[in-house]
Amino acid sequence: MTLPSPDGASPAIAQWFTLKAAHPDALLLFRMGDFYELFFADAEAAASALDIALTARGQHAGAPIPMCGVPVAAASAYVSRLIRRGFRLAVAEQTEKPRPGQKGPLARAVVRLITAGTLTEDDLLEAGRPNLLLALASAAVPRAASGRTMLGAAWIDISTGLFETACVTRGTLAELLGRLDPAEILAAPDIVLDEYEPRRAPPAPPPPPLAARARLAEAFGAASLDAFGSFDDAEAMAAALALDYVRRTQAGSTPRLSRPAPQADRATLGMDPATRASLDLLRARDGGDRHTLFAAIDHTLTAPGSRMLAGWIASPLTDPAAIAGRQQGWGWLAAEPGAATALRGALRGAPDIARALGRLSLGRGQPRDLAAIRDGLFAAREALAALGNGEQAALVARLAGLLDHGRDLQDLLARALAADLPARLDDGGAIAAGHDGELDAERALRDDSRRVVAGLQNDYAQRFGVASLKIRHHSQLGYVIEVAASAAKALANKPGLVLRQGTASLVRYGTDELAELDRRIGEAAGRAVARERLVFDTLVRQALAEAALPPMADALALLDVLQSAARLAAGGDWCRAEVDDGDAFRLLACRHPVVQAALPRSQRFTPNDCDLSPERRTMLLTGPNMAGKSTFLRQTALAIILAQAGLPVPAAKAELGVVDRLFSRVGASDDLAQGRSTFMVEMTETAAILNLAGPRSLVVVDEIGRGTATLDGLAIAWAVLEALHSSTRCRTIFATHFHELAQLAESLPRLAPHTMSVREWKGQVVFQHEVVRGAARRSWGVHVARLAGVPEAVVGRAARLLADLEREHARNAAPLPLFAGLATAPEADPVEAPPDHALAEALAAIDPDTLTPREALEALYRLRHQA
Ligand code: ADP
Repeated sequence: MTLPSPDGASPAIAQWFTLKAAHPDALLLFRMGDFYELFFADAEAAASALDIALTARGQHAGAPIPMCGVPVAAASAYVSRLIRRGFRLAVAEQTEKPRPGQKGPLARAVVRLITAGTLTEDDLLEAGRPNLLLALASAAVPRAASGRTMLGAAWIDISTGLFETACVTRGTLAELLGRLDPAEILAAPDIVLDEYEPRRAPPAPPPPPLAARARLAEAFGAASLDAFGSFDDAEAMAAALALDYVRRTQAGSTPRLSRPAPQADRATLGMDPATRASLDLLRARDGGDRHTLFAAIDHTLTAPGSRMLAGWIASPLTDPAAIAGRQQGWGWLAAEPGAATALRGALRGAPDIARALGRLSLGRGQPRDLAAIRDGLFAAREALAALGNGEQAALVARLAGLLDHGRDLQDLLARALAADLPARLDDGGAIAAGHDGELDAERALRDDSRRVVAGLQNDYAQRFGVASLKIRHHSQLGYVIEVAASAAKALANKPGLVLRQGTASLVRYGTDELAELDRRIGEAAGRAVARERLVFDTLVRQALAEAALPPMADALALLDVLQSAARLAAGGDWCRAEVDDGDAFRLLACRHPVVQAALPRSQRFTPNDCDLSPERRTMLLTGPNMAGKSTFLRQTALAIILAQAGLPVPAAKAELGVVDRLFSRVGASDDLAQGRSTFMVEMTETAAILNLAGPRSLVVVDEIGRGTATLDGLAIAWAVLEALHSSTRCRTIFATHFHELAQLAESLPRLAPHTMSVREWKGQVVFQHEVVRGAARRSWGVHVARLAGVPEAVVGRAARLLADLEREHARNAAPLPLFAGLATAPEADPVEAPPDHALAEALAAIDPDTLTPREALEALYRLRHQA
């Protein structure tokens, strides 16, 4: 934004220029009385984004100053719109009170930067989702000798105090971004953020490693950062960068944050953004959140529970023991319906303790935030009772242990807070009578004086003989006697009365007595307000000092997720997956919960098995459009996500060797907005799979090679299928309309061709949505065209053309050139791929930098054997 030179500005505008210079990237909300005003280019941008009037105030350099304003009382609605439009805001408040005879503008300072990643107010936040700020940093010395630069990542949710770190490579950064879905990202300009680019904050260099470590240790009162775990340099730098940024946006004050917790490299199931987008996990491709996996399984009762469930779905685990711990948790509740029902009673309406604590720690807390702590403690007590004293699952027992704290704080808050709380502390009345003697005394004085005023009114009315005389409080004049103009004559020249104001209808008088009362009431009210704030602040400090609160909030959220899972499991048809480190992969009668829920009542969902055991780990799926291929691919991916999140799986049985990475490419991912062609996008995504997938990964792909000419596409699909089968050796479901690929089963021993069963009935096709062994022989495209309502004349013509083409093809009967070699392909040999490719592929699959000497030797033997 270009700004005029500040030279010759009026004093207030000069002040604006100074503040703006310190925050050039933000819109400056400049407090003027009851409004926040914006000037110059800020005003133009905000007026257009908010669709409010752009006016002018005064002049600068001979031209009117563009200005728009929003009322302070309604600011949050405007702030939220501006943040959603991608703006950052700097809030400049008046930091002094107007004094009589004041010359020049009041002092102002920026008290807070509001950015997408540093929000705390409920009306700016989505209750059921985290709101993360992510910082990325690369250290000068790469961690691994492999030459791959490691990036340190640290993310903070200041609304709840979450603070975690991890190390990623540039290759796996996309997975982290997809998993966290951060609202704002701090990263050096050379770190590419792809579709997250719009969320990049203005650059800020991270502190060097030593300074970063020192700063973090100091912030959390430890002698060394090592006290919290082991952090790479880059990780510490990212964490310090995030912390510094939070402090800067909060004008120096730090919200309550948990200690930075490093997350293990391989603790979560890797999923890149394309995978997430194709699976509609938390948000659907249509942008809504109704037809999502989350919506299909969510029975949580609280916002923190909903956030935690979203977190589980966004980052499923890879540790079978941790997965089993969660399963036992909800399994126990499912088996103890009495406890589950009582627990639900305790959770229903339980407040958001974590976010209330976040606001309180930043001095932004209101009476309802303290009430949230009070009610949260009460809910914890009830939840604890609900769980009973019997034998509990290990996880449940651990959570119960976290709930049994904070009784003193609960009692204190129950006594201290008034029954009816004001919305804002400044409105007065938040603290109950009887809690603080001094506050009670000030209030009594204030209220007594008000009674005296009421008494005086009678007095004056009699003394002056005007029954209609009133004593009123006037914002500028204070307490005055008010009479109708017609009665004013009776008061003329009365001793002690001073005329303060006269209008056509009213006359107002003051007296010494009233002036004195006014002063006393004002002082007492002021003292009561000050005392109330003091008492409130003390309570806030006591709440923040209760170290048991944050873990208790987490425990309640977790119990909410467990009861939600228990309810799901109770619905029948959902199973507890058996997940271990083996290589099994069997789903029996698995369903797609979202598609199933969306089917009309008249239609039944057909469950399908999926067996990707080692000896048949590459499934080739052919079949016509609309037969249910994508549904099958997606439901398999969703089953893995649910199983590894430790949640119930929509299947009769699930046996799974843990999956380390999941790749899903289902449904057109048109990326035309980014100017890349469908085919380019498809190939980029395919490249990511081939580079990152390993034997434990699950790859579900639909229609690779569809975006280019037939032969081209077939060749690419073939090569990719071969590579997945023989080099990557991952578990794969490969859906394709190239039926010819089924013939590859002759040379690829672990390739298992499957197809969607189709029945022809009275000349109509019926899709049974059933996955069966074998390959599709026809496309049924013409039938699908009819289903879709293409006019009968066109469908009929297409059917005749197809018959002609098929006859022609049968006469020539020559195989497609690409398949010419297949007939003579050798019997499946141990190498499993055509021999000339196999060696090159096996070589390419080796990453020398990650091998131990022993592994390298073994690889060498293998290659030798292969040649
Ligand atoms: P394809 O990918 O083969 O074109 P889809 O998976 O998109 O087909 O399925 C098309 C429609 O068929 C779905 O919208 C759904 O209504 C229905 N469908 C898919 N799978 C099943 C199933 N297993 N049982 C019942 N209906 C299904």
